[in-house]
Amino acid sequence: MHTEEVKVGNVIIGGGHPVVVQTMCNTHTSDIEASVAQCVRLHEAGAEMIRLTVPSPDDVKALAEIRRRLRCMGIETPLVADVHFSSGIAIAAAETVEKVRINPGNFHKDFAQAKIRFSELVNVCKEHGTAIRIGLNHGSLGERITTLYGNTPLAMKEAAMEWLDLCVQNDFRNVVVSLKASNTIVMVEAYRLLAAAMEEKGMAFPLHLGVTEAGNGDSGRIKSAVGISALLSEGIGDTIRVSLTEDPANEIPVAKYLADRCGGILHSSLAAVSIEGGKAVATYEAPSRERLMLDLSCDFGKMLLDRKIDDVEIRGCYYDGDRKVVLDGSDDAAYFEDELLQAARRRFYRPEYVACPGCGRTMYNLEETFNEVKRRTSHLKGMVIAVMGCIVNGPGEMADADWGYVGEGNGKVAIYRKKTPVARHIPENEAIDKLLELIENDSQASAGISGEAAGIDL
Ligand code: SF4
Repeated sequence: MHTEEVKVGNVIIGGGHPVVVQTMCNTHTSDIEASVAQCVRLHEAGAEMIRLTVPSPDDVKALAEIRRRLRCMGIETPLVADVHFSSGIAIAAAETVEKVRINPGNFHKDFAQAKIRFSELVNVCKEHGTAIRIGLNHGSLGERITTLYGNTPLAMKEAAMEWLDLCVQNDFRNVVVSLKASNTIVMVEAYRLLAAAMEEKGMAFPLHLGVTEAGNGDSGRIKSAVGISALLSEGIGDTIRVSLTEDPANEIPVAKYLADRCGGILHSSLAAVSIEGGKAVATYEAPSRERLMLDLSCDFGKMLLDRKIDDVEIRGCYYDGDRKVVLDGSDDAAYFEDELLQAARRRFYRPEYVACPGCGRTMYNLEETFNEVKRRTSHLKGMVIAVMGCIVNGPGEMADADWGYVGEGNGKVAIYRKKTPVARHIPENEAIDKLLELIENDSQASAGISGEAAGIDL
């Protein structure tokens, strides 16, 4: 897909340039020392663009100081302000850093008012040469759009096109768009719809790809690789972020792999493949476990998402240092097969987890809590459980989750059943117990209902 160039400081997104790898700090932006230190680490790890959250006007000042210190160190990596709800903060940030990420629909409940505020931001961006990312995540769409189109990929595309039309009307082209979702099918479909709609209208805004709230560990990496590589292989996508609920530096090698593979710099370790009766039998000779995992996700993720195949069997080997690990019929192979099929949403062998990567709005140890929630809910196969860093965006962004653990700040947690908070202000050290208790109560209640309906004395 041909896209126009968008200039973000010294980096160009789109226009046939290599895929740009970016990430986001999880420090509090107001903690200038910690944020600068993390930016330096992320720059050294290979991040080409770094985003920081900007929840308040004071954070804009902190951001200016972070940028100043980085530039003094000779680090020119463009900074991106992540702004929610306040067009005033977005405007102040646009005067400070190279790019601003917003969901303009959140500027005001009234669409006409939101459009006015967005146009004001556009004018400031034009004046300062600042780029904008319009980021419309699944679950963060306004009521007006979801009433018309549901909470669907179509709604995401329609919402994006409204704002892009406004950019065109304002003759503003320094715009990148993202339509992220945790569900890989929703994410891929939304971007495909948007790419087709832009082409039809003669628009060529670059796309920022990501599987949001992908979680951590192997599953976060596989899910991200499945969604992002499916689109990159079709020529859709100009910049990427792999969101992991981990140290953000860990995102970079995965994102670099995807970008390098897209650029033809790196090739799969797949040695042979045959497809019979909807099942791909793939033989690998992978240089490492991580490479096997990523190669596999990119080789077969899209085919699974598009239902070109229904299953994958892995054979061959990978290397763990000098040790050759044979995959044929092994537990390792079965595990990767299960994880891949779950990431492509073709077979669920464990609960599905949705976890944000955390940012400056997170007020608790997200990574540790998420791992503990995973450990204690691993038996709840098929259930969707979300662990979100903040109450501001968490509830909206956890989209399709059955249950949500959402940090409220001040050591307190809210538990959500679907979109409804069912317990609030639970002390952090009691919150996982509470979550499990509520899940258990619900399953007993539904067992009681089905027993009554069937005339069974339970
Ligand atoms: S949901 Fe997570 S990543 Fe999103 S703003 Fe809140 S803490 Fe940050």
